[in-house]
Amino acid sequence: MKYLFASLIFLSFYSCYQSQTADLILHNGMIYSCDEEFTIYEAMAVKDGKIVQLGPEREILNGYDCENIIDLKMAPVYPGFHDAHCHFEGYAKTLNEVDLNGSASFDEVVARIVSFEENNQFSWIKGRGWDQTLWENKEFPNNDTLNILFPDKPVAVRRVDGHAALVNQKALDIAGITPETIIPGGHIEVINGKCTGLLLDNAYDSVAIYIPDLDEDLRLELMQEAERDLFEVGLTSINDAGIESKDRNQFIKWYSNGDLKIKDYCMLFPDEDNMKFASDSGNYRTGNLHIKSFKVVSDGALGSRGACLISPYADHDHHHGFLLKSIQEFEEIADLAASIDYQVNTHCIGDSANRAILKIYEKYIGAKSDHRWKIEHAQVLAPEDFDYFEQYGVIPSVQPTHCTSDMRWAEDRLGKERVKFAYAYQQLLDKAGLVALGTDFPIERISPLETFYAAVSRMNREGFPEGGFQNENALSREDALRGMTIWPAYSNFENANKGSLEAGKDADFVILTRDIMTCTFEDILKTYVERTYLNGELVYSAE
Ligand SMILES: [Zn+2]
Repeated sequence: MKYLFASLIFLSFYSCYQSQTADLILHNGMIYSCDEEFTIYEAMAVKDGKIVQLGPEREILNGYDCENIIDLKMAPVYPGFHDAHCHFEGYAKTLNEVDLNGSASFDEVVARIVSFEENNQFSWIKGRGWDQTLWENKEFPNNDTLNILFPDKPVAVRRVDGHAALVNQKALDIAGITPETIIPGGHIEVINGKCTGLLLDNAYDSVAIYIPDLDEDLRLELMQEAERDLFEVGLTSINDAGIESKDRNQFIKWYSNGDLKIKDYCMLFPDEDNMKFASDSGNYRTGNLHIKSFKVVSDGALGSRGACLISPYADHDHHHGFLLKSIQEFEEIADLAASIDYQVNTHCIGDSANRAILKIYEKYIGAKSDHRWKIEHAQVLAPEDFDYFEQYGVIPSVQPTHCTSDMRWAEDRLGKERVKFAYAYQQLLDKAGLVALGTDFPIERISPLETFYAAVSRMNREGFPEGGFQNENALSREDALRGMTIWPAYSNFENANKGSLEAGKDADFVILTRDIMTCTFEDILKTYVERTYLNGELVYSAE
């Protein structure tokens, strides 16, 4: 009797224990939690979109009633990947433009434009991705051929970095640009008294405003197609680096309706209307959209020599590049942000731009303890300026594939000495204690595995250079993984809910075909996403 009584108690206790239900259990895997201790678990249980428990195989399998049990067969699981700097709609729009990436010559650029036009007839021909540094003739192209081929249709094709564009005469005419036009923060190339069609930075914007907007249905269709691509490469979170006020409400509408679900931390360009929205709304969330920061652009890109340098370019006498706004304008934005508890995330490429903005940060956040203001790119720094990151808790948000794309010509632009302090990710990590990693897509490809590979190997996809470019700045695999998961979440004030696999956090995770923490460098690029889950929901499956 005594024995029976004891078993009854045990049984009722057991069935109560058993009656815990889970929506999904993963077991027999290598689950990289990315928690503080970098714990690796065998099994994980998920319920209502949240992680409920991680632990040993038996404990999880015996602990829950669950209909949906996945045997990982030792496949690795990581927190959903997070791209800390990208352009979601910029990428979506490329799905509707001439893709000029990887064109081996200007002739190929023209050929791709002609074939695109044969298949699509839009009112403007738009394209993106050419890069003259890949061509035998590394000079910037001019619009002579485009003027002959398309005398009546405007053409605007942007360089891979988005900071330079080639437009034809028709597009110049529409925008009213002549050799005499002057546009602050931009450059219109004029040779022999004639516009060549090459426009840098703000000069291109003055043409872009004439390109008609896509209609609303097509726009959403492209965004959803882009979102599917992002899930397919394992992204569950992105930081959208710059939304104009005219697009802000559209994003709010898409996310409030649930039309888009990838978690988007949207940075607002500080135009007047966005600044008003920021002041009125503060820390704003709807659906999976989160808005709490300004994206400021301080200079251009190194490739098109728009980056602002302290000493002149090594390959262009007396040319320093330029800042895109006055110091006073930058200060006004920082002042507002500091007063409404907003973040400032500033694009800084050149060492002069980095220094100017870090000094402004020092002035406005010096006394604030937890601001998480960021420098986007932090590409070229004067050696003495790394200390700002440590002293003021500034977060570097960097793009490892920019390093392996730019390394072919970075030394030409910067010279032997200065290049040592460019793309210096480990040095930044040493000072800042964290780095957020991204791609800046559509400038680079969308895959976070390419980010991981470039960060740890410092080589391009062809395995060049052997041993890695300035390899002392390669990141460890552990840090690279944190840079694609928990650190960007932290940088957005989102680390309490996501960025690592821990009980109570969102069930955002990916299952890969291979363990990128242990495989060879080469094999990282042959690794694919098996499944992507967002809040416990399967959003991509390779099957
Ligand atoms: Zn960007």
